[in-house]
Amino acid sequence: MSEDDSIYRELDVTPVVNAAGTKTRIGGSRIRPGALDAMRRAADEFVEIGDLEARASTSIADVTGAEAGYVTSGASAGLLLCAAAAIAGHDVGVMNALPDTSDVPSEIVMPRTHRTGYDHAFRTAGASIVDVGTNDRYLGTGATDVEPWQLDRAITDETVAVGYIEKSYTQPPLASVVEVAHRNDVPVIVDAAAEVPPRENLSAFIETGADMVVFSGGKGIRGPQTTGFVAGKREYVASIAAQHLDMHVANDLWEPPTDLIDRERFDGVPRQGIGRPLKVGKEELVGAIRALELFVEEDHGRLEAKWIDLAEAMAERLAETGLGVRVTSPNGTSVAPEVVVDVEATGVGTNATELARALRDEDPRVYVGTDDLSDGKIVVNPMCLDESEAEYVIDRIVANVE
Ligand SMILES: *Cc1c(COP(=O)(O)O)cnc(C)c1O
Repeated sequence: MSEDDSIYRELDVTPVVNAAGTKTRIGGSRIRPGALDAMRRAADEFVEIGDLEARASTSIADVTGAEAGYVTSGASAGLLLCAAAAIAGHDVGVMNALPDTSDVPSEIVMPRTHRTGYDHAFRTAGASIVDVGTNDRYLGTGATDVEPWQLDRAITDETVAVGYIEKSYTQPPLASVVEVAHRNDVPVIVDAAAEVPPRENLSAFIETGADMVVFSGGKGIRGPQTTGFVAGKREYVASIAAQHLDMHVANDLWEPPTDLIDRERFDGVPRQGIGRPLKVGKEELVGAIRALELFVEEDHGRLEAKWIDLAEAMAERLAETGLGVRVTSPNGTSVAPEVVVDVEATGVGTNATELARALRDEDPRVYVGTDDLSDGKIVVNPMCLDESEAEYVIDRIVANVE
């Protein structure tokens, strides 16, 4: 961060120092300089967007092991498009009717414990969600979230897909869900938005048998904020493309890239589909392709070591002031180590919520992780901090607990 040439200062908007990790509401991540440079160059020329998506498909297929891929305007947009593809397939009539699904199967079955606010994207495409199972796992009765037979029963002629959110804590394992879904001839859509790094996760869920996997482009991959990736089977990616690309084109002139779309399978041109409001510009597309390439080439061991060093240095300074701190290993909710500050246990003259609020009122504003406020804890995440920012964050925490 350079205070001197802050564009946000210029716009009279207070900038944020991000100690919370890759959170969309405070700007996600720092875009890779190489991706930004590519975007600047992309802005100067014109290109057929379908051709560029076909090129992106090749890159995504390479790194994920999927048949094809597609750049979307975020993981959330990807979920919407996956649902649209599962519902409409190559049927131009259904595509044009979406989100009206009154005449066609449109149910997405999900384990109940996989429901999140993000699955609104499925419903936006016209799907309805059928959630099954319970949240009994934590009762200690031996019950699990959902048994394979329960998923099996829930899949009917109305089902178009099974939805799955990938987190280290989600149950049942993806492999068993894939098995049930495929036995019933329906695809599995995996929300893996925040699961990279590690790099292996780019291919892990495809290897396990998922039909469509969604990643965020603006989190750990550090592409443009308004990008995401779908990796999956060619037939679904073709349907996504047909429902996303701008389709103001004369019937006889419609020659979509053959790598992406098999023209023969469409009765006509699907006009401005359900995905059209989720447009991706040439700049974002190029930025996403380049960021993905750079992410794959990156030395992740070194990156993690850097995060650990930063987290430990911050923890040490906080501990010196008598605060109860602990450094976590990368876990289910964060791909980076984090510094957990136990505000409550330390008995300082504030509590976690007050401290988080006071930090946000600083100038620049400081955002820390707030998922553990109810336990009296704030969390400092090193992913989006450089050394001087980390120092500022610690200074402001110390100042606010004294
Ligand atoms: C961040 C996130 C999304 C949304 O990703 P965007 O790229 O911001 O659209 C969806 N699902 C989960 C689990 C996420 O963490």
